[in-house]
Amino acid sequence: MIDLAIETSNLTKIYDQIVVVDHIEIYVKRGELVSILGPNGAGKTTLIKILTTVLKPDEGTALINGIDVLKEASAIKSIIGTVPQDYVFYEELSAEENLIFFGSMHGFPKKELELEAKKILKRLGLANRKDKTRNFSGGMKRRLNIAIALIMKPDILFLDEPSAGLDPQAKHVVWDYIKELKKGGKTIILTTHDMYEAEMLSDRVLIVNNGKILAEGAPETLKEKYSQRNILEVVFKQNDKANEFKSVIEPNSFIKQVLIEDDKKVNVYFDGGIISFIKILQEKAIKDVTELESMSLRQTTLEDVFLHLTGRRLRS
Ligand code: ADP
Repeated sequence: MIDLAIETSNLTKIYDQIVVVDHIEIYVKRGELVSILGPNGAGKTTLIKILTTVLKPDEGTALINGIDVLKEASAIKSIIGTVPQDYVFYEELSAEENLIFFGSMHGFPKKELELEAKKILKRLGLANRKDKTRNFSGGMKRRLNIAIALIMKPDILFLDEPSAGLDPQAKHVVWDYIKELKKGGKTIILTTHDMYEAEMLSDRVLIVNNGKILAEGAPETLKEKYSQRNILEVVFKQNDKANEFKSVIEPNSFIKQVLIEDDKKVNVYFDGGIISFIKILQEKAIKDVTELESMSLRQTTLEDVFLHLTGRRLRS
């Protein structure tokens, strides 16, 4: 048995002379849940399309369960489940009919499919809908996409932005289900631009930007490695105050980084907890509290890691 579910080397895709997947080296162990986290246009979908044999790379190799995507695409299709962003079902059929149709294409017996379809649809909150799927809301269609991938009992599940377009309640249904699948030992790769989703679900996160992997690791490890534990977020009412604040506090040794966003917002990354926080206040950098829009102390998130690595926010 091969230990790695996915292994790539030098994987590259070029569109109109722009390198959108740039010499990517990744590995995913069996049973791991790995998120590919990056802003829109980072190359996440293109990478997933190469790994699921929808697109051919221009350079490099990708092995899925040890099988080369370029050489044995049909063997790979039988072991993976893909949940793309587009809808992949028949709108004239009900949810259950769709599942039975796609499952029988994979050769599973009808009786078994009926039971399994009911189970999956119940888990995704779709069991009560017996009507044609054309009437479904966008969020229900996205959940049906997931159900269709799962009816084929894939070894490896690829989810492209699984919670995009879902309302908060449906998001939680999907997240709980993904957690359950992970507990059951399934290998899962998902793309997201939602740092909370990546942080909450993943064993490991790959942070991508402009087709490159900037950093990878467990969410906690990334946060420790690329950012400081304490962040003071100060928002001024006027533009010129942010720079003044920055230049006053920056010389202190416990200040690790000061980033100004949108001219008015200052993110101060510092060591030393509350004692350093009090020192910052004693610096008299903030002369008049009426100059402040807001001030808060907060914990590091993966968003801070991204900001640290690229100088911009994930959603910008
Ligand atoms: P993400 O999933 O991270 O939002 P994509 O993989 O969809 O990013 O796209 C990465 C880049 O490749 C974007 O700049 C996008 O415009 C470009 N791109 C994607 N598909 C094509 C295509 N078929 N032809 C030309 N450019 C493309």
